[in-house]
Amino acid sequence: MEPLFDLADEFGPAKILHLYEPSSGLRAIVVVDNTAAGPCIGGIRLAPDVSAEEAFRLARSMTFKSAAAGLPHGGAKAVIYGDPAMPPAYKETLIRAFAHAIRDVHDYIPGPDMGTDEQCMAWVHDEIGRAIGLPEALGGIPLDEIGATGWGVVAAADVARTFCKMEFRGARFVIQGFGNVGKHAARFLVDRGAVMVGVADISGALHDQKGIDVAALASHVGSGGEVRDFANGALIGRDEAIAIPCDILVPAARPDVITLDNVGRVDTRLIVQGANIPIAPEAEDELHRRGVVSVLDFIANAGGLICGHVELRGGNKDEAMALVERMIRDNTQVILERAQDRGISPRAAALEIAEARVREATVSRR
Ligand code: NAD
Repeated sequence: MEPLFDLADEFGPAKILHLYEPSSGLRAIVVVDNTAAGPCIGGIRLAPDVSAEEAFRLARSMTFKSAAAGLPHGGAKAVIYGDPAMPPAYKETLIRAFAHAIRDVHDYIPGPDMGTDEQCMAWVHDEIGRAIGLPEALGGIPLDEIGATGWGVVAAADVARTFCKMEFRGARFVIQGFGNVGKHAARFLVDRGAVMVGVADISGALHDQKGIDVAALASHVGSGGEVRDFANGALIGRDEAIAIPCDILVPAARPDVITLDNVGRVDTRLIVQGANIPIAPEAEDELHRRGVVSVLDFIANAGGLICGHVELRGGNKDEAMALVERMIRDNTQVILERAQDRGISPRAAALEIAEARVREATVSRR
């Protein structure tokens, strides 16, 4: 395998570890991006198909997320290769083996991500005493249960909608990925009077301009159902969801779902990025040219990270939700104003601010 030095720039990555343990079958990658502001926080993703390059881009997004939120952390990402639907006993073996393998990587604090949850973090914490996103019984704030990231996504949407001169009441929204981020974002948007006209998960997508019942879908999915077998609206292809006409689009599934190949089909006024790196930079520029306001991932979906920061300091869920709302509202406002005043894209404005903060932290380090 070629070394990944060509990914490196002035910010990192500080280290890329390849982990392999034949007895458990553990194969994993850890990217620790930039430790200037403090130890790096990053989710452990359990997936069969994530490259080292993608892990690096996700770690970088965490570095900027932390910097943009003004937190004393850098960004990291871990990928354990495997099927997220593996039997629980094997999952525990694998996660514990992973934790053991990173026991001396003190500048990495693991958190949950796709395919891992608070139970997994409890196993990691049991092995090495270092993890966020723990069960409440261990002092954790159950960020996926309370919907911290979805809460932040909707706080960002609330600020951004004023830049599109849009009200929430009656606004049509589409959610791509009805998981921990997407389903809570949908719930909070419905609470504010918006209407879900499209939704996708890995099984397929539904489209109904009259509105899809978010609470009923959440309980359907909660009891093991999938979007494609929910009796509401017309079933369409999973990748068609991004083309459903709407006012607010929330990508909350995978990276790179909007690229130059399909950006022309996006028909919305506002995009709030629940997922990490869901839009390729060139597609983001194209959306900006078309007047679509887009709030970048590391601004809009920082709720989980902010919640983890509060948890590390012994805070509770009310403090976490209040801080998520305040930080994300403030950041969204600053970035969209800067973009408007200087005639640059929100992406450019967000990067300017995050990069300046990482540079500032770097000055005082070796
Ligand atoms: P999750 O596993 O709970 O849910 C993912 C959802 O996406 C599921 O509904 C799944 O079926 C769907 N999905 C997967 N592939 C899809 C595809 N190709 N097309 C349509 N739907 C697809 O994950 P999550 O925790 O909600 O995270 C979603 C995204 O948000 C990820 O990119 C994650 O990195 C990012 N994120 C999560 C958090 C958090 O707090 N959970 C915080 C920040 C960013």
